[in-house]
Amino acid sequence: MDDRDLGEIVVPADTLQQRIVELGHEITADYEGRPPLLVGVLKGAFVFMSDLARNISLPVEFDFMAVSSYGSATKTSGVVRIVKDLDLDLSDRHVLIVEDIVDSGLTLAYLRRNLEARQPASLEVCALLVKEGLQRQDPDLRYVGFRIPPKFVVGYGLDVKERYRNLPFVCVYEGSDA
Ligand code: 5GP
Repeated sequence: MDDRDLGEIVVPADTLQQRIVELGHEITADYEGRPPLLVGVLKGAFVFMSDLARNISLPVEFDFMAVSSYGSATKTSGVVRIVKDLDLDLSDRHVLIVEDIVDSGLTLAYLRRNLEARQPASLEVCALLVKEGLQRQDPDLRYVGFRIPPKFVVGYGLDVKERYRNLPFVCVYEGSDA
């Protein structure tokens, strides 16, 4: 696992940043008068959430959740375990889930059901990346950064065995250990 395993760039750094500015403006307009509680899904979403939040001109609050899905890194089984739960109570909050990438949609479907049960005032999803054509569950995404081809990618929060999260762009991973 080294830099020779990195393939073509799927979303360059400047394109990412431009789109995040747009998403921030959209969210600012939509949540005027009802500031959202951003719920980041660790670890992958921390880079996106940090840039997104700085483009939202509202008094947002933050919380984080960590989940682990059973199955290999490249294929989720849909069985999700909460490794770290939220600190805050969601009742009457306008919750915006911030996700790094949606592949099968199974992780998000689970999260949505789980958070919906806590009776927030509203619940929407902002996903930076969505893989084309693979969703088995309709993930009902309010905000999407980019639709990308169904290849395994790293960078901008996304890892292979904890590496590559700090790359400022998203690229294909061509190593054999994904
Ligand atoms: P889903 O349940 O939608 O199939 O999978 C979502 C989770 O799988 C993501 O939050 C992410 O942790 C992981 N994942 C899916 N596709 C990729 C990918 O291309 N690269 C990386 N690094 N992780 C991915």
